[in-house]
Amino acid sequence: MAIKNRVFSGARPTGRQHLGNYLGAIQNYVALQQGNDCVYCIVDIHALTTVEDTVNLRQNILEMALDWLAAGIDPKEQIMFVQSMVPQVTELHTILSMVTPLGKLTDLPTFKEKARENPNNVNYGLVGYPVLMAADIVLYKTNLVPVGVDQAPHIEFTREIVRSFNYRYHCTALLEPQMKVTQVPKVLGIDGVQKMGKSLDNHIEIAGTPEETQKRVMMMVTDPARIKRTDPGNPDVCNVFSMHKIFSSPEEVASIHTECRSAGIGCVDCKKLYAKNLNQRLEPFRAERARFAANPQAVWEILEDGAKRARVIASQTMAEVREAIGLPKLDY
Ligand code: SF4
Repeated sequence: MAIKNRVFSGARPTGRQHLGNYLGAIQNYVALQQGNDCVYCIVDIHALTTVEDTVNLRQNILEMALDWLAAGIDPKEQIMFVQSMVPQVTELHTILSMVTPLGKLTDLPTFKEKARENPNNVNYGLVGYPVLMAADIVLYKTNLVPVGVDQAPHIEFTREIVRSFNYRYHCTALLEPQMKVTQVPKVLGIDGVQKMGKSLDNHIEIAGTPEETQKRVMMMVTDPARIKRTDPGNPDVCNVFSMHKIFSSPEEVASIHTECRSAGIGCVDCKKLYAKNLNQRLEPFRAERARFAANPQAVWEILEDGAKRARVIASQTMAEVREAIGLPKLDY
């Protein structure tokens, strides 16, 4: 029997997920379950680097977990949990920070970007963010991390940290993870310009009602050069058409491509069709979500069960790390 890869991926608890999250990450999480041993983590400690108001943190964790479960993540076969429920990650973060040059961290474009975005809160955690990320990955003996092209440098950085640690302590306690670069579609927001994101309020929630979804779809910006209904449009520059390519049938896509160019179809009808197809596709997901949402306690139990299994792997890694360094043994 082939040995399974241990896959790790984490996402900050941003509450209800939107189409960008769904197409860019969640669908991939679900697909990776085939033939892999997956560890999916809601990284709440990471969120603290930029989130000051934590009143909704638990609710956001729950909402995100609901979306993951409803989308098809199998918490029995895989491990799904919350980062802070495995405290060993903070210990490993501290240890790894000792083999990570500070200059390298402050030079990272992601740090500079975050510091620019949060000028009044450039905290120590923000600098150490990639080290915590490395700790997340290596704590669970991960050998494969799915990433979009833009995140590849983070994994390369994790590999460097692992090499520094193993070199400093003459050991092989930590595994160098490989990355699996996935082609993630760039999902634009309803403004048709920027990447879909909650902070920009240009998103469409996957758990919204059909009415809410339709309302957001009808707000989508189309081909900006098409002013009047009688103007021919260019589907190739239209975000609605990009979404049709994902959610509509090949026949519908072909028809819109032709009809838009000849002004045979108007943008209102085109969006209505997209909303209908999107709602249809999300219907089973929403039904499943409602089933899980009826018992939030059971969802927390799923997360606790995942954390319990994650702690077993984490304790083993930390025992090896402590042994390599020469720290006293600890019964976690
Ligand atoms: Fe976009 Fe559809 Fe309007 Fe063409 S008809 S511009 S594809 S919304």
